[in-house]
Amino acid sequence: MAQNFIDLAAPPVHGLQPYVPGKPISELEREYGVSDIVKLASNENPLGAGARARAALQAELRDIGFYPDGGGFALKARLARYHGLAMECITLGNGSNDILVLLAEAFLTPQTEAVYSQYCFAVYPIAVQAVGAKACVAPALPNGHAMPLGHDLDAMLGLVSERTRLVFVANPNNPTGTWIDTAGLRRFIQALPSTTLVVLDEAYFDYSRAVDCPDASRWVQEFPNLVVVRTFSKVHGLAGLRVGYGLSNPQVADLLNRLRQPFNVNSLALAAATAALDDEEHLRKTVELNHQGLQQLRAGLRKLGLTVLPSAANFVLVDLGRPAGPVHEGLLRRGVIARPVGNYGLANHLRVSTGTAEQNQRFLAALAAVQSGQK
Ligand code: PMP
Repeated sequence: MAQNFIDLAAPPVHGLQPYVPGKPISELEREYGVSDIVKLASNENPLGAGARARAALQAELRDIGFYPDGGGFALKARLARYHGLAMECITLGNGSNDILVLLAEAFLTPQTEAVYSQYCFAVYPIAVQAVGAKACVAPALPNGHAMPLGHDLDAMLGLVSERTRLVFVANPNNPTGTWIDTAGLRRFIQALPSTTLVVLDEAYFDYSRAVDCPDASRWVQEFPNLVVVRTFSKVHGLAGLRVGYGLSNPQVADLLNRLRQPFNVNSLALAAATAALDDEEHLRKTVELNHQGLQQLRAGLRKLGLTVLPSAANFVLVDLGRPAGPVHEGLLRRGVIARPVGNYGLANHLRVSTGTAEQNQRFLAALAAVQSGQK
């Protein structure tokens, strides 16, 4: 009998399901033979990286034969200035995903628990399950609520016990786009026991400035059990480089830094991220394009008679009122990649990232054709 390696794996790994990413453009080309593809599936920046990050990448290529600075000094120093925090409060990650996993590895065991919301970012359940901790899942807010399918902080608080080490909150949340206001979030953090860390995932924070969605990085010194997680993948347009960071109490950062790989952020990512923080022009253009994109998508989707959830991020979640699978398939055949979210338990919903005006129009036209039953 051949060895069954599943039996040899650590028990928590047996039942893990892999994360389902947005379909890459090259895969759609290969599988469907279509070209001129629009990808609005992974909440990427339609402008890509800014000029400063690109220039930094070019310069850094010269030294690619050297290992990166394992301590990430330049980026940490720039981030410390940006957030008004000491460098000891910062942990750099291979994407913010890395920070989420490090937190689970550092604080969770099969004897402890983590709390998150239904319809939260799919990496939280994976990170919790991978270390064998118990996941306590709070039901989301109902459809009729001002933040439909968003985090119900009271329900989440109700699940916190002395065994709870981590509570995951994304603000704004992916895949719903919903957000939590300043007063609500402060009340929530204040109500948590000091033995529970709140992981506040602000991947989409920079898109949320038009609404009351707090910058919790300002609260890191006030709340020792707060960890704020940010990324360069979204507004900074560096998703392919994989770089993100955590802001926390120095003791928490120390633990994460003990666990992380010595060179978890590569030298190109370090250089580009450091430069990106100074590119206010790129940030401004990105946020403005997103603002217009949200309006365009909302108006177009409503014209098709569809329900769109409120969003403070760079995507919208739309309720198709019927299974999203065939609609997604119809869009793919027309060269448009959106994101079905059946794996989140939302079989009738589709998530669409904002693109350029032209890309948004391509999506809306393709969806209109699919909805009207055209082949
Ligand atoms: N948090 C949220 C809420 C996200 O949506 C994402 C990316 N989809 C991430 C974290 C991870 O992003 P990255 O690893 O690219 O920083």
